[in-house]
Formats: sequence, structure tokens, C-alpha cells
Amino acid sequence: TDIDWTAFAADLAPVEVISETVLVKKRSRDFFWYSPVLNAELKKCFGDLVARPKTPEEMRHCLAVAWKYKSPVVLRGGGTGNYGQSVPMDGGLIIETTAMNRILETGDNFVRVEAGALMADINAALTPRGREMAMFPSTQDIATVGGFVAGGSAGIGSVANGALRDPGNLIALRAQSVEKVPQEHVFEGEDVLQIHHAWGLNGVITEVTLRTVPARDWVGCLATFETYEAAYAAGYQLAQATDIGRKLVTTVDARICSYFPRLEGHIRPEHHLLVSLLPSEDVGRFRTLIEEAGGHVDLTLTEEERQTAKLPHVFDFSYNHTTLQVLKADRSATYQQVGCPVPPDPAAIADLRPKLGEDVWMHHEFARVGGEIVTFDLPIIWYTTPERLAEINATYEENGFPVYDAHTWRVEGGGLKNADYRHLAVKKRMDPDGLLNAAKSAVWESVKDLSPEEIAAKGAE
Ligand code: FAD
Repeated sequence: TDIDWTAFAADLAPVEVISETVLVKKRSRDFFWYSPVLNAELKKCFGDLVARPKTPEEMRHCLAVAWKYKSPVVLRGGGTGNYGQSVPMDGGLIIETTAMNRILETGDNFVRVEAGALMADINAALTPRGREMAMFPSTQDIATVGGFVAGGSAGIGSVANGALRDPGNLIALRAQSVEKVPQEHVFEGEDVLQIHHAWGLNGVITEVTLRTVPARDWVGCLATFETYEAAYAAGYQLAQATDIGRKLVTTVDARICSYFPRLEGHIRPEHHLLVSLLPSEDVGRFRTLIEEAGGHVDLTLTEEERQTAKLPHVFDFSYNHTTLQVLKADRSATYQQVGCPVPPDPAAIADLRPKLGEDVWMHHEFARVGGEIVTFDLPIIWYTTPERLAEINATYEENGFPVYDAHTWRVEGGGLKNADYRHLAVKKRMDPDGLLNAAKSAVWESVKDLSPEEIAAKGAE
């Protein structure tokens, strides 16, 4: 960009600015390196300047300055996204939200927070009130709530409480526009979906109200099985159980478990793993379920026991933390995101496994979406070439398992699959000059000269 960044930084005062090249470069990255494809494409994309507003008023000032200079803007929370969501493709201003982190209100069944609050801090603030968030990503120690709402989808808790987009989980949002005088808009009820999972390209979230649920005395449980199919079948039974209050159900191929050194001696080697979190009073029923399903309960850990034994949280072996455990040992691994037939079918999993080949190791997460138990596969893939990756994707798809490609940095390419014209119509209203993370949408360029109504109508076509 041909912007005078010294003048820009001066205009941002009194907002904290970070301009040292190393620090700006560091804040231009997220966890895209999980994908060798994305790593090659994104590792040379950097922003020009970082602003760190502390209040909604300071945020408004940052956006007004960006509008004045017509600078691209990318929002950044913890930078834990996996698809380069917070990577600036065209340089410009990075706004880091982590200083806007106040917990504003804890109600009986909701919490209202600033967008830069860390997920773990929100949970910690809720615990003394006997509440917790309905779900959180396994990255909760560094992920912000704004990043979760703009970039995430589900997490630990989703098998009980649904996905973030399910009614009632995301209660309200406040988001600012990018114009001469940025305005703050409130999104409530179903309207939160106009902003949720838009990757920060159609508004800057300043405040989030989330549903909370009663906190429980959670016990981490690890059980092992002779076959993957048996672990998956038991996982499905557990996910459906009405008398066990589970908030996490994960199954992991035995070969992946050999990359879990911290569980060595605690789980049977060369066995397929089922990871779960359940209330202490339900552990007896869990044992019966596992034994009847032909498995073995290897370890149960209350939070106190976990801390005494200095063991990691069991959710460190779930969601994309499973991938991380393998990547710690070997950077040639990568992963994929794959949907599975509904209802979950152990026979379909057993049938697919040999078709995938030795370079694909399954790992499933169980979740409740729209009231129904579903699973998705986040397999470890031993990456060789783009052609082989395409072949693996094709094998999944041909067998009825839709791939939500994790190796693309476009919002339309991964979880969303198709263009979300509702998001883009809101973008036209909130960001008429297309300054917010616009490159992430492959479709924006073709609709940016239409009115919001015309863009919305494209969704109906
Ligand atoms: P960032 O990465 O900083 O940002 C994500 C997106 O949101 C970007 O597009 C950014 O521009 C935008 N954004 C950030 N703040 C704002 C704002 N205030 N207003 C508008 N846009 C904004 N995801 C899950 O859903 N569930 C999981 O269980 C999960 N597990 C993970 C495990 C690992 C090991 C890793 C690496 C990732 C995982 N993720 C998961 C993805 C990611 O960690 C989460 O989505 C997380 O909540 C993102 O928060 P963040 O603050 O790091 O967001």
C-alpha cells in the first residue's frame, strides 16, 4: 500500500500502536501452518501496523483512521485460527483486540463480555457463580471470544449444548461499521448469524453475550478399545446417552495415540481411544457403558487428581489439539475436516478405513447440531503431494463423507462451502468500501458494486 504509516500511526493516538517489523510480522500469522498448502501461500503475507485499542471508543477511532486512509483492516484476537483467517492478504492495519477484555455482566444464564476477553478467563469468572460457557474451543487459553464467534463453530460442550450457531447459544453481538464515523449495531436473536462465522469481514465485534450452563464437577475419562469401529460405536452410544451428562466425546485411532507421550503408562498402547468429560456422579454409568461396549476404562481424573498428577486436560487430545500433538513430533503431518453420514454409522466407518490408505488416521468429534448427534472426522494425514491430498478428499466424498476443506484461505472454501450472501449484504452496509478482510471472500469482488438488497437477493437465486 502507498499509505504513509508514520502519519497513520500518529493519527491513531492515543491508541497503543505496534510498529516494529518483527512484532507486526508475528501478528500477521495464525495456525495456517497446520496446512502445507496454506503455509506456502500465506507465509509471506504481512500487515503494516498493529493497533491495540482498549475500549470500544478506541476501536471506533482505529476504524475511522483506517477509513480515512482507505487501509485494509484485519481483526485479530488470539490468532489461533487454522485457515489464515486473521492473516492480512493485502497488508494494512491489524487491530488486536486482546486489550478489550472486560467481563461486563454475569447474569443467571448468560455472560456479556468484550470481544477480546479470553475464553479461559470467561470460564474462570463464571466458576464462582456455579456457571460455565455452553462450549469453548480447545484453544481457550489464548483464543478470544470475538475470534471464536467470528471464526469458530463448536467445541468442548457441543455434544451437550450444540454448535455456536444453534438457537440460544449466541444471544447478542455488538459490532462496529467502517465508515467516516463508525457506528455500533446490535445483533440479537437469529440476526447474530449475520455476523457469526463471517471471519471479521462484515463488522467489528466489540461485545458478545453468550449462554451459560450450570458448572459440573467434570471428570476426564479415557477408555480404550480393540477396534476403531468399537470405539466409535461406544462414542455414539455415549453421545446419545440421556443419563450421562457428557460434554466431550472424541475417538482417536491407536496410531495417533502413539504420539501422546504424556499419556504413556496411562492408556493401553496400540488401542483405539475414547476421550470424554463427564460429571463425577455419572462415572459409574460410563464404566458400565464402556464395559458393555467391549472397552476398558483406563483412566478417570477429577480436576484435583489431574493437577496433582500434572497431567494435561483430556481436551488436549480433542478437536485440533489432537493434530497439534502429532505436529509437535513431526511437521510433515497435516489434517482435514470431514463430515460423516447422519446418524453416525460404525459400519460405514469400518468400511471406509481400508479405502483411505495408511497415510490417513481417523479422529472423530461427536457434536449435537440442530438437536441431532453428528460426527466429524479430523484425520491426521501424512502429507506428500497436493495430488494425493486431492485423492484422499475424493475417496471421502465418493463414500458419502463431505470434505470441508481445511486447506483453503477463502471463507467460501471450507466450512461454509458456498457463498453466504447474507454475510456479504451486511458487509455492504457495515463496510461499504470493502476494507475489512475483503480478500478472504472470493465472491465479494463480484458483488461489491451492488446494493445490500441486491446482494441478499443473490442468496435466494
Ligand atoms: P483469531 O484467530 O484471532 O481470529 C479468527 C477470525 O475472527 C479472523 O478472521 C479474525 O479476523 C476474526 N476476528 C477476531 N476478532 C474479531 C472481532 N472482534 N470482530 C470481528 N472479527 C474478529 N475452533 C473451534 O471452533 N473449536 C475448537 O475446538 C477449536 N480447536 C482448535 C484447536 C487448535 C489446536 C487450533 C490451532 C485451533 C482450534 N480452533 C477451534 C480454531 C480457533 O482456535 C478458534 O476458532 C478460536 O476461537 C479463534 O479465536 P482467536 O481469538 O484465536 O481468533
